[in-house]
Amino acid sequence: MKVVKFGGSSLATGAQVEKVYHIVVSDPERRIVVVSAPGKRFADDMKVTDLLIRCAKSALEGGETEALLQAIVARYQSIADELHLPGDIIRKIEDDLLTRLHHDKSRPEAFMEAMKASGEDNNAKLVAAFFRYKGLDAQYMSPKEAGLLVSDDPGNARVLPESYKRLSALKEKPGIIVFPGFFGYSESGDVVTFSRSGSDITGSILANGVQAEIYENFTDVDAVCAVNPHFVRHPKEIREITYREMRELSYGGFSVFHDEALIPAFRAGIPVNVKNTNNPDAPGTRIVNKREHKHGPVAGIASDEGFCSIYVSKYLMNKEIGFVRKILIILEHFGISFEHIPSGIDDITIILRQNQMNSEIERKIVERIMDDLHVDQVKVEHNLALIMIVGEGMRRAIGTAARASRALAEAHVNIEMINQGSSEVSMMFGVKQAVEKKAVQALYDEFFQKVMA
Ligand code: ASP
Repeated sequence: MKVVKFGGSSLATGAQVEKVYHIVVSDPERRIVVVSAPGKRFADDMKVTDLLIRCAKSALEGGETEALLQAIVARYQSIADELHLPGDIIRKIEDDLLTRLHHDKSRPEAFMEAMKASGEDNNAKLVAAFFRYKGLDAQYMSPKEAGLLVSDDPGNARVLPESYKRLSALKEKPGIIVFPGFFGYSESGDVVTFSRSGSDITGSILANGVQAEIYENFTDVDAVCAVNPHFVRHPKEIREITYREMRELSYGGFSVFHDEALIPAFRAGIPVNVKNTNNPDAPGTRIVNKREHKHGPVAGIASDEGFCSIYVSKYLMNKEIGFVRKILIILEHFGISFEHIPSGIDDITIILRQNQMNSEIERKIVERIMDDLHVDQVKVEHNLALIMIVGEGMRRAIGTAARASRALAEAHVNIEMINQGSSEVSMMFGVKQAVEKKAVQALYDEFFQKVMA
């Protein structure tokens, strides 16, 4: 049995839903279909999830909701019209949205979660109705009924381990199951969503639960590229990659597949195949446990911006017990998480996402580090990009760091920071955001374009 997930762009219009139907019927093993909410139809379009968030915010602030609600219903209506779908599915969707909208708002977060999740929930109902209209034996399945239990962390839910056993019962259900992505239920019965783009996570959890033969993740590109196609023209496509490599690349900025979605499939040893709804015959990218390293040490290069670093220096820092803990307590006090901490003898740099701080918080943090830890220097540097070169082959290849830093030097890119420690499969370079593109191009040329002697 295969679990197949379709992303928002694969379900944005009636024509796309038709393609989804053809993909599902072309293989009788495709028995569990996970759907996102309708996504963007064109570059400036809005995703249904974003419309829902806007509508929920406005409702919580006592503002206007009618126009937004109608815009959301219109998205489903246009899909149903294009598919010539008879029946009262749109009225049901509208009723559902009105019920959610008029629900108790005394717990604003729970209200927001229920609104957000309706995008996939109603879309699953619509897709199931369309499949039945086409003559398939298809049923919508509620995550509550199926037993998808998650932690009570709104917008950041984690699957609870007992879910897997419950979900395994889906194997016995006849016909095709259409399952909404992106959310589950807390033990107290509330809707709780995963982080954004979390339908990928639902698909992976279901694949684990039913011990699927494969988890097919349909999106709108032929394959995962070795580097961001906005930075490098016609980059190489990745045919096969390991879970660890993909996890690092997804974390590093690859947006094709959610980084948290790999773990459930990985734990059950289920291969993931990223494929294109608009070109389903293309082989796509397979994410597997082990692969051969035929094409050099590096599998891909990811980059992401919006980081800042807090550099702290104090003579004899290495001798001071609990120094890092004290810094982390200060960050914790301000609710700030860090990404990396490269350190030296008398210095330490804490890399974090800069959108967590404003100038006021930054000033207070610097002040506290100075006052509480009596350091020699604290310096905050903004607008950094982190570039990760990733590949399991790096473990054995000698000179990868030398090749990378030479390529950056030749492109006149100043490296602000290098981190290659704990993870043997990646190497990270911090550079100024302004030179990110140039740096990525230089690294790509080095590891993917150069024919080594
Ligand atoms: N619709 C949700 C989002 O836009 C989840 C998803 O598409 O996977 O984030």
